[in-house]
Amino acid sequence: MLLPLLGTHCGTGASARSRPEFDGEATLALAKTQTDFGPRVPGSEAHSQAINWMEAFLQPLASLVQRQPFQIWNPHYEESADGVNLIASFYPEKTQRIMLCAHFDTRPEASAESPPVLEPIDGAVDGAAGTAIMLQMATILSEHEPAYGVDIVLFDGEDIGLTGAGPEYQHWFQGSRHFSSFARQADYKPWFAILVDLVGDKQADYYQEPISLQYAPDVVRKVWDVAAALGVTQFKQSRGQYVYDDHWILNRDAGIPSIDITESISDYAHWHTREDTWDKLSAESLAAVGKVLVGVLYPEE
Ligand SMILES: [Zn+2]
Repeated sequence: MLLPLLGTHCGTGASARSRPEFDGEATLALAKTQTDFGPRVPGSEAHSQAINWMEAFLQPLASLVQRQPFQIWNPHYEESADGVNLIASFYPEKTQRIMLCAHFDTRPEASAESPPVLEPIDGAVDGAAGTAIMLQMATILSEHEPAYGVDIVLFDGEDIGLTGAGPEYQHWFQGSRHFSSFARQADYKPWFAILVDLVGDKQADYYQEPISLQYAPDVVRKVWDVAAALGVTQFKQSRGQYVYDDHWILNRDAGIPSIDITESISDYAHWHTREDTWDKLSAESLAAVGKVLVGVLYPEE
């Protein structure tokens, strides 16, 4: 969006950088649209509907929306499916860039139920919530110029591995693995990346995740300092549990300093169960994360 160049009023740059609000209710509605499609398991009708909807949503907001197609192997069904990462770029002229990301696919197996059930889950907290926050950020970015360029990346094929896949987590994080090989080849080096996953349930708290602290301690500090300054009390100034997630791949394979804003898995009772449904989300909890992201992208000068 261009600022008007005519007129005698000075200091329009300040208004361009004023900090926008983050709308939790609109974000909740964006999460519900996804769960209404049904479980977004690669290869399913709901999965392709969700991709088309997200792409159509982003297209008028971003400078450029790209599809990054790849094949996803589903070890539960022992077959492959078409996968795609979506990349939406904002303010491509800005060289200092921040990457924001989330996975949108949902798990084919309710693997945390006892006994595990080979039925797909809605993935409200685990998939829809992080994606909804990214889409709401896209709306904000289209209306308010941030201090940095931003690339929003929506990963496919994060949650499709088998339980107990081993130290390499084979078949997990397939979208971020694909993206990382592309990023290495293209020499894509954002300043840092913030992944948002397992967020938005009513009681969610966000502790500093150890893999994030290991690879990108300065980014963790920066984000949690913003949360403290904004009075967002869900961000706790202490260490949480390890969560192996797309940020691990981005750090390790793409060399992008990356952190994960995520609940500790043991704090969310419905993780990887058929109970991870839309009614577990709250607008206020989604807004807590969004407000911090807005604080990072729109620093007060
Ligand atoms: Zn998951």
